Amino acid sequence: KIALFWFRRDLRLHDNAGLYYALRSGYPVVPLFIFDRNILDDLEEKKDARLTFIHNAVSNIRQELRQKNADILVEYGFPAKIWEKLVDEYNIAEVYTNTDYEPYATDRDREVYRILKKKGIAFKTCKDQVIFEKQEILTGQGTPYTVFTPYSRAWKEKLTDFYLKSYPTQKYFGRFQKWHGAALPALKDMGFEKIEIEFPSDHVGNALLKDYAQDRDFPAKEGTSRMGIHLRFGTVSIRELARQARGHSDTFLNELIWRDFYQQILSNFPHVGKGEAFRKAYDLIKWRYDKADFQKWCEGKTGYPLVDAGMRQLNATGFMHNRVRMVTASFLAKHLLIDWRWGEAYFAEKLLDYDLAANNGGWQWAAGSGTDAAPYFRIFNPASQAEKFDPKMEYIKRWVPEFGTDAYPAPMVDHKEARERCLKTYKAALDKA
Ligand code: FAD
Repeated sequence: KIALFWFRRDLRLHDNAGLYYALRSGYPVVPLFIFDRNILDDLEEKKDARLTFIHNAVSNIRQELRQKNADILVEYGFPAKIWEKLVDEYNIAEVYTNTDYEPYATDRDREVYRILKKKGIAFKTCKDQVIFEKQEILTGQGTPYTVFTPYSRAWKEKLTDFYLKSYPTQKYFGRFQKWHGAALPALKDMGFEKIEIEFPSDHVGNALLKDYAQDRDFPAKEGTSRMGIHLRFGTVSIRELARQARGHSDTFLNELIWRDFYQQILSNFPHVGKGEAFRKAYDLIKWRYDKADFQKWCEGKTGYPLVDAGMRQLNATGFMHNRVRMVTASFLAKHLLIDWRWGEAYFAEKLLDYDLAANNGGWQWAAGSGTDAAPYFRIFNPASQAEKFDPKMEYIKRWVPEFGTDAYPAPMVDHKEARERCLKTYKAALDKA
């Protein structure tokens, strides 16, 4: 009999909770990864760099395993069908995996659980992706927090070394099943192209963390960690990163707490992951579904240089600086009054670090419908944001070289008029509620 360990968004062999428990199960462990067609078939862009990232990560895991005469089983297809097949092909005692909190993943895992249960196979899920899960940080009344500051206070109070300890998988590497599997399916066999792109390093320097608090808000600086994609796919461990943060930058630790915060919001209020506003009254807003205006925003041709710089950085690199994510998102929802869900979907398609919980949290915050939302009548002024956070216009000039020439478009909306339209429309909806 064997134990299977199913990798999903935890693509590393070191400090991996579920893998650790699988290796300690007493059964030889066969790791598994599924290229999931439920997800892949929905991706319109066949040059999606995230697929290259995942493929590289699985391939690195395989190389490490091969050095130990072990291997990884790699499948391509629909998970339920694959599991139906695996339970017949292998003599499986137990299946281990790390919990994934997204609605699709929760449904998928429920189905897999049923398939395994029919065969009497235990399905063991472990906490790995976050420091604290949804039920671990609750208010005095036993309810989830919906405001960040008290949540982060409670998070820090609960934190002890215990929660940041690494899982020493390497001590048990001898327990992988010794075998030699088939080659990894190539990206092109799955309909995707390999992208030549340099991904951010999986290492954060302490020097960056030292200056993080003062540099992080300035998009022209390389002042943030670029850990997003690694945290998304689990090529770094959140526990290792949080330990490093604790030693070097409270501000950075705070950002990691935001990540846990939005993960617990998604788990505790799953409606936010299904297209609904966190505050339901905001679903009464009469959005403008104007495709031409939306297109200008997507292409970075709004006539507001900080907004345009951000959108062009996103389109060209798959990354956008956090400050500019806030400004571009607010501009779409409030200045253009376009449904934030359009913007959320556009970011989801483009961001290398796309993560449902954080993206949805960020968008709903910007639209005013989310947790912690600043009152809706606080509307970012994109021009003063640019003056404050890009005072020398370095970031703007990098991404909008024609700014200041005739080639650059005039503002597509007047700030004052847009502001008034937004206030009126929001007020009408919220008065109704
Ligand atoms: P750093 O500043 O170095 O932060 C380190 C890590 O902390 C990040 O990688 C991320 O995991 C976490 N983090 C930081 N800020 C936040 C935050 N506000 N919410 C949740 N986690 C945070 N982040 C994503 O990971 N995926 C998304 O899809 C995403 N979409 C966003 C959409 C909008 C509209 C907004 C306003 C923010 C969004 N963010 C998202 C949050 C934030 O902008 C990114 O995490 C950050 O810019 C990534 O760059 P970094 O890794 O250099 O961040």
